Amino acid sequence: MMIAVLALQGAFIEHEHMLQKLGADTIELRKTDDLQKDFNGLILPGGESTVQGKLLRELDMFDALKEKIANGLPVLATCAGLILLASHISNDDNIYFGTLPVTVKRNAYGRQLGSFEATARFDNSFDFTMTFIRAPYVEAIDDFAKNDVHVLAEYDGKIVGVQYKNQIGLAFHPELDDDTRIHERFLELI
Ligand code: GLN
Repeated sequence: MMIAVLALQGAFIEHEHMLQKLGADTIELRKTDDLQKDFNGLILPGGESTVQGKLLRELDMFDALKEKIANGLPVLATCAGLILLASHISNDDNIYFGTLPVTVKRNAYGRQLGSFEATARFDNSFDFTMTFIRAPYVEAIDDFAKNDVHVLAEYDGKIVGVQYKNQIGLAFHPELDDDTRIHERFLELI
């Protein structure tokens, strides 16, 4: 199985290591030509959504990646990646791919709670220690998609993980600890 990891900025190496540990092959997406390669899944890593969004356009990768996601390519998006997927960002005028029908709030935990760890239930099946770093959360699900967006995780009354068809969006960073269970889930989706 070949997983493409968007490698323009942010925490992409950690995803690669985790996927390799699980036996998957990885390629890095750094330029338009990389999108010609064959891959079965995509990781949108954490980092800075504004920087990643700008680079995707400057490097002419934006439209082709958006089309692949809209056409059903399985995606695991973490933190900034979730922001790139969201159809609305409540505290930012930008919209990036907009393929995931949710409203997210950027840097939603404020300055004092910039980074923290918390343990919460994941998809009703296991407890997962979640690392949040200047994280967003999901404020709302678009009305038309209410039945199709599955809430994977909530913490402190806020939605921090969702799945909509081929897209998994997480507010936290599952790649920063040793626990591979969420990446395993993603590989199963593929
Ligand atoms: N605060 C970042 C943003 O707005 C996301 C942080 C992260 O990916 N850890 O894009």
